[in-house]
Amino acid sequence: MPSPVLKPGNSPDFPKIKISARGAKRIQDGHVWVYRSDVAAADGVAPGAMVGVVDERGKFLGTAFYSSSSQIALRLISKEAVGDLKELLRERIRSAIGYRERVVRDTDAYRVVFSEADFLPGLIVDRYNDLLSFQVLTQGTDAEPVRETVLAELTEQLHPAAIGERVEPKIRELEQLPARTSGLVQGEKSSTIFSMNGVRFHYDVKEGQKTGAFLDQRENYAAAAQYARGEALDVFCYHGGFALHLAQAGCKVAGVDSSRPALKVADRNAGLNGREIEWIEGNAFDVLRDYQKSGQRYDTVVVDPPAFAKSKRELETALRGYKELNLRALKMLRRGGILVTCSCSYHVSAAEFLGVVAEAAHDAHRELRILENRTQAKDHPILANVPETGYLKCIIVYVSN
Ligand code: SAH
Repeated sequence: MPSPVLKPGNSPDFPKIKISARGAKRIQDGHVWVYRSDVAAADGVAPGAMVGVVDERGKFLGTAFYSSSSQIALRLISKEAVGDLKELLRERIRSAIGYRERVVRDTDAYRVVFSEADFLPGLIVDRYNDLLSFQVLTQGTDAEPVRETVLAELTEQLHPAAIGERVEPKIRELEQLPARTSGLVQGEKSSTIFSMNGVRFHYDVKEGQKTGAFLDQRENYAAAAQYARGEALDVFCYHGGFALHLAQAGCKVAGVDSSRPALKVADRNAGLNGREIEWIEGNAFDVLRDYQKSGQRYDTVVVDPPAFAKSKRELETALRGYKELNLRALKMLRRGGILVTCSCSYHVSAAEFLGVVAEAAHDAHRELRILENRTQAKDHPILANVPETGYLKCIIVYVSN
């Protein structure tokens, strides 16, 4: 791919893209996306180019990365004209790190850059102690000068032992980017140990789903541990994030997941922390049904499934899935028990999720007190004017009857 991003914003041939009144209103209201249907014309604009965005009358609205394939055609990187993209990228990274210094506690693992929420659309960077892992999601951030600048600034600021890239082949395909493989792009160290809230975890650049651990749950682990007690079941446990925190809080814990590789890491993590946890490989829906029928009861249950609604169309099915899981979990809880229930589907709103939990309680003839209505950890910031940046729901309830 050429490197159109290097063209300075004030050069005469700097491409400009005109957008509709509706698109302009979104930007003026504080959003950072322009959909393809709001782009008047983008003929000849190179994939991933940095462009000026103008309204129908030619008024300048900001600078954006252009994608030739995504429905989100423009992602704003600045409301200003950008003269020096490299300097802008460096400044954005420094400010993302500065924000984490203010809000991240009790961990050496956190999200350093969260795409739009850090004004670096299409870039995700996670830190796991001395290793960094990054992911590129768009044509704009995949351009070589952008990658180089980002990696150089991250190295200068954080001095990682190594940096790994996590590739999601499907995302690259949709964005029409050339195939790449996951792996180290800098340094040689590929595994490390990180900690959050005093619990230790293995991290391997080459393993795991998403970018490694579910860092977005870090504050929810600590919150859950505050209330957890007795016999506990962590459903959809992955590497044991909740399970290990519950064990640290004194619970007798079992974890359920359908992925054997995930449970292997979970077991190594238990060893690292000197904990005995029972890991059960199986389909969570089946395990919950069998356990509930056979009269198995718990004092604490965590339910943290993968996103059931990947698009708006799947909403109804997703809500049914959440309802069934929560219904079964509630039936298995002893009086005075704690349910920690999560949804990471952006398309399911916080109100809808709470509604599902309430319905499940009604059907299970249980009375709930809501202890906490939570969201993602603060290193995954939610922009007030970009609701799409908020996706995680975590409700903690007390089963009073
Ligand atoms: N609670 C975890 C994150 C869970 S991610 C944490 O805090 O780290 C969702 C997990 O659900 C993945 O580990 C995936 O392997 C598992 N999973 C997906 N479908 C499943 C199913 N039907 N039954 C059991 N586990 C499932």
